[in-house]
Amino acid sequence: GLRIGVLALQGDFREHLRAVETAGAAGVGVRRPAELEGLDGLIIPGGESTAIDKLARAFDLAGPLRQRIADGLPVYGSCAGMILLAHDIADPAADLAGNPQQTFGGLDITVRRNAFGRQRESFETDLDFKGLEFSATEDGVAPVHAVFIRGPWVERVGPGVEVLAQVEPADQEHASHAADLQGTARIVAVRSGQLLATSFHPEVTGEKRVHELFIRMIRGEA
Ligand code: GLN
Repeated sequence: GLRIGVLALQGDFREHLRAVETAGAAGVGVRRPAELEGLDGLIIPGGESTAIDKLARAFDLAGPLRQRIADGLPVYGSCAGMILLAHDIADPAADLAGNPQQTFGGLDITVRRNAFGRQRESFETDLDFKGLEFSATEDGVAPVHAVFIRGPWVERVGPGVEVLAQVEPADQEHASHAADLQGTARIVAVRSGQLLATSFHPEVTGEKRVHELFIRMIRGEA
């Protein structure tokens, strides 16, 4: 069976480990470089991207992880995990010494942190999500119920980055909490090669298909 690591430094790694096991793979918490060995894929969870960045550097994981991503390890990042996979952050945080937060990179995108409005903790909406055709019924592919918790959006995608889902201004009206999209469709899920990222948290809603898509990517079936 597949062994999927979940970066377990901070954030909601337990929910991802559960989602991976529900999908039929073995989930492995990753805290040290040796635990990157023998993985078929890795998930970077939601949480706080600045904390995960700092801990990854303190645990000497950041360099090896950057290298594994460059070597083609399949990686899925949700929320903070999307930020950590991004080449660029539009509004990086700085630590007390003024050093900007760093990312592992791999995805040629620019993200904006906490993009949906700082004062609002979260919002929820239903999204059309490309790549989930394997789950189609005679009614088509059911939308993904997406929960955003201080999530980023994607402001730029480079060549080779496929947009899988966007929040449309019309979705905003149906959202359970308003989000300020400034009238523009906002990209919230992308794929580039073996890298997948979502601004939202399928691991907290019982939505299984995003993890299933990631497993299909690892198997070369998607
Ligand atoms: N705002 C957080 C960050 O910058 C991400 C929030 C999340 O992962 N739920 O890391």
